[in-house]
Amino acid sequence: MARIEAIANSAAAMVEQVRGRLLAPEAKKVSPTYSTAQLAALCGVDKAHVAYRVTKGDLPEGRLTATGAKREFSLSELRIWTRTYRADRMRPIGQKAVTIAVGNFKGGVSKTTSAMVLAQGLSRLGHRVLAIDTDPQGSLTTLHGLLPEAEVSEDMTISPLCDGSASDVQYAIRSTYWAGLDLIAAAPFLFSAEFALPARQLNEPGVKFWRVLDDGLALARDIYDVIIIDTPPSLSYVTINALWAADGIIVPVPPAGLDFASASQFWALLADLGSNLERQDTENGKNFDFLHVLLSRVDSSDPSSPAVRQWIQATYGEYMLPVEIPKTAVTANKAAEFATVYDVQKYDGSAKTYKRATDAYDRFVELIEQSVIETWRWREATT
Ligand code: ADP
Ligand code: MG
Repeated sequence: MARIEAIANSAAAMVEQVRGRLLAPEAKKVSPTYSTAQLAALCGVDKAHVAYRVTKGDLPEGRLTATGAKREFSLSELRIWTRTYRADRMRPIGQKAVTIAVGNFKGGVSKTTSAMVLAQGLSRLGHRVLAIDTDPQGSLTTLHGLLPEAEVSEDMTISPLCDGSASDVQYAIRSTYWAGLDLIAAAPFLFSAEFALPARQLNEPGVKFWRVLDDGLALARDIYDVIIIDTPPSLSYVTINALWAADGIIVPVPPAGLDFASASQFWALLADLGSNLERQDTENGKNFDFLHVLLSRVDSSDPSSPAVRQWIQATYGEYMLPVEIPKTAVTANKAAEFATVYDVQKYDGSAKTYKRATDAYDRFVELIEQSVIETWRWREATT
């Protein structure tokens, strides 16, 4: 055990070092700035219109770049623009946040990356987003520029909620380097929730172990537009809570044989679990507003992927999102652990590669935004 401890220590020290180098000079993540063209595209207008609107002086005017020829906007400035120009797509007054869980019991299928890109993408479009990391590995937390082992304390996670010392998650919410995106972090000690949740179910009358997170989000649902939950790659007590709190589920599936098989287990287990829990709690049935399968990490050079893609299409049909996320070197090059395509200020590689990746992610974000808006409309029509 002493030797294992030594390995753990030296690995942790190396992560810290690498992170320092990647995030230099201040070892803090910063969000990118946006050109007039990017701002115009996100607002759905042309550059000339932005130039005209700037002269009216009622929206942030950004800054001229060093040469004075171009304008650039910070992310918070961009969000003021998108909230203005996309006002018809914002959460209607009186409506609650739509909660989305990204799940699949297999690791490495791009759950965390998809959750982060979605959170960043929806925030750029003007929405207020809360991201919740429920994986003790803390990969989503790392993407927010925080080191789970060194910078995350219990009161920044759902741990107190799970052990019963808190009943609402408000205490855990922190703002992040990304305007419009707040985070509830995760760290390895969150594994303790796997003991706390079933223990409370036994010892505390009235506690339903699968509803703890759902109940704990009551206040957040009035503050945020969208809540995005990243889940661990296993069926755990915490995963069950994440899925139960969700209005919509996204299941990323790469077109590879084994990943296809494990995604099918996900649905089987979820169906089993759902009917089981509904039997224990007959007044509170579970309804999902949307279920989406996302083809992720699609490697166009892999000869087997067209066949697997067909199986996936035949199986999931209408649940498939009409977009494919390519396997891309855009972030793999640039330390994917710490950044997504939306963090890249200026891509050094091929412009075509970069555009292919951002186009696919932009489309993904747009499709999910549509599901969110439809959910609000549906709720308005039925209540
Ligand atoms: P999960 O959360 O399902 O375990 P991750 O999002 O952490 O999956 O992704 C696993 C690995 O694959 C990470 O190293 C990530 O950077 C990489 N990855 C994710 N999406 C892509 C993609 N579209 N192209 C290339 N690499 C990707
Ligand atoms: Mg993950």
